[in-house]
Amino acid sequence: MTNRCETCKGLCCRYFCFQIDEPDDYDEFEDIRWYLFHEGVSVHIDEDGDWFIQITNPCKALDENHRCTVYEDRPLICRGYSTENCELLDEDYGYQEEFTTPEQLAVYARKTLGEETYEKEMIKHRAKAHGLSKKEMRDHMVRVGLLHPSRTDKPKKKGKKKKNK
Ligand code: SF4
Ligand code: SF4
Repeated sequence: MTNRCETCKGLCCRYFCFQIDEPDDYDEFEDIRWYLFHEGVSVHIDEDGDWFIQITNPCKALDENHRCTVYEDRPLICRGYSTENCELLDEDYGYQEEFTTPEQLAVYARKTLGEETYEKEMIKHRAKAHGLSKKEMRDHMVRVGLLHPSRTDKPKKKGKKKKNK
């Protein structure tokens, strides 16, 4: 333990974080949106473009004085942690993006996939999950305010094609 750790409240022992796959379709964004509905969960994209999930949840080995009660037997990952760039310095980690709410992620997903693709996929997947047709799901989503009516498919215009003479 360094001097710095002696005055710290064990900030690095109050969460865990691991890399996740970068989402590249609607399904995968939905998985991450689900994570973000949970307390203490955030997701970020680091400066290299890698995606991470962070769960804020204190280690059970941390005592009321912010000390590790299993210091001699602490996991390897704790042994490798450096005070050089730790939370106590309160430095900007240079994340490209950080999502703390499902709404923030949905905005990013719409931007990444494109509004039209996002909404088509949303209707398709939800319709399948509920055994409805896409039209039934689209109508339902308009009714409950999840889709703007102007985004629904317009009926195809009927009319005779002019024959070339
Ligand atoms: S490594 Fe940094 S955040 Fe962790 S206990 Fe030491 S000073 Fe605090
Ligand atoms: S095992 Fe000890 S050093 Fe590792 S996270 Fe828990 S309290 Fe911190």
